[in-house]
Amino acid sequence: MNAPRTTAELQAADSAHFLHPFTDFQGLARKGARIIERAENIYLWDTEGHKILDAMSGLWCVNVGYGQKALVDAATKQMQQLPFYNAFFQTATVPAIELAERLAQVTPPQFQHVFFSSSGSESNDTIVRMVRRYWDVLGQPQRSIIISRHNAYHGSTMAGASLGGMIGMHAQGGLPIPGIVHIEQPYWWDHGREQGLTREAFGLQAAHWLEEKILSSGPENVAAFIGEPIQGAGGVIIPPSTYWPEVQRICRKYGVLLVSDEVICGFGRTGQWFGCETMGFEPDLMTFAKGVTSGYVPLGGVMVGERVARVLIEQGGEFNHGYTYSGHPVACAVALANIGLIQELKLVEHVREDVGPYLAQAYAQLAEHPLVGEAQTCGLMGALLLVKDKARGTAFPEALAMGMVCRGHCFREGVIMRAVGDRMIIAPPLVITRAQIDEMVALIRRCLDLTLADAVKHGWL
Ligand code: PMP
Repeated sequence: MNAPRTTAELQAADSAHFLHPFTDFQGLARKGARIIERAENIYLWDTEGHKILDAMSGLWCVNVGYGQKALVDAATKQMQQLPFYNAFFQTATVPAIELAERLAQVTPPQFQHVFFSSSGSESNDTIVRMVRRYWDVLGQPQRSIIISRHNAYHGSTMAGASLGGMIGMHAQGGLPIPGIVHIEQPYWWDHGREQGLTREAFGLQAAHWLEEKILSSGPENVAAFIGEPIQGAGGVIIPPSTYWPEVQRICRKYGVLLVSDEVICGFGRTGQWFGCETMGFEPDLMTFAKGVTSGYVPLGGVMVGERVARVLIEQGGEFNHGYTYSGHPVACAVALANIGLIQELKLVEHVREDVGPYLAQAYAQLAEHPLVGEAQTCGLMGALLLVKDKARGTAFPEALAMGMVCRGHCFREGVIMRAVGDRMIIAPPLVITRAQIDEMVALIRRCLDLTLADAVKHGWL
């Protein structure tokens, strides 16, 4: 056997051949990627032997933590028995059928049907095609506009990135595609605080931006509204409690379909099975991915509520849409094992009743830190906003990239946090224990202290 390759050799091969997602290729080549080699529970190890606490669950997906044998066994068994068969030509496989049935049980009662994909982006592409098809079948083809929000993230395909509201993405590749429009996000800190609105009053105002957009577009032209219950990639923006119920009321008033993108919030992250349950609304459609398999293999899909399903099934005829891997048997077998494990370990209850509230307490203490403007959590999602002047809530100049300064310390100290502007965000695996939360929060506090020391030293405050 050949000797294992050194980190430097792997980094050279990486920059010679591997174009990483959302990456400045040349910048990475200069630095060299950190190469993750193995993982267990909530910890990763890189090729240099560093142990790292993964406070981001990979990319918000490894909900049951790393190294769960039940998922590995499910994949192995299914690969041996039937590694692939499609669902196109009036055929099905046992895992796909059983997963569809199981999803109908764990999702809110309006959901009895699922359309499978392999990712969150594909699921949101399916949404665009499906909601437009729904209105076509009902004889209202002009109802094609989909309303989303600035700073939303719904994926990286043409439709997914168009639904999303990321300026940097829209600036590349001629996006958004026609028929997708955006309203402002329900981010109180940026849009409600200076107007002196309470969070609750601001939540209603932000929901009314939707009504204004529906009216200016003409309600007869609007197909759907899509949103993440809590914006993830946008910086863990937790909307005021008044927001979603009012959004639902407005959608119902105008007959607009309501779509919840549960790619991050689904499968226990917020302390309920789905984020819409935590936020108090009943969507017509839900997209999911990530947590459905805890990221062990790719799988996504759209839960189709009865309002839409009945029309597509009873009046729609053939729906000309689908993916080779819609209902991939290995992915579905892993999802079944994953959902089984979430139930067996009572992870949703664990988040809601135990570690979620425990994290909230710890974050309330971090809120006292001189660099922190606000600290928020919901279930096992959390955000810390770094500010220059705590009393006034003044932001650091963008050019300082304080979030990146802090993230650099996190990397060195052995905890993975993500920086979205100056919001430091986490979403640790749902299996995390109280003792591990203590460990994580101590590391985070140390990184905040180191960032503060930098700010003092360089006169940034
Ligand atoms: N929707 C949301 C809310 C997401 O967070 C993401 C990915 N972070 C996506 C969709 C896209 O999923 P994928 O990367 O699997 O295509």
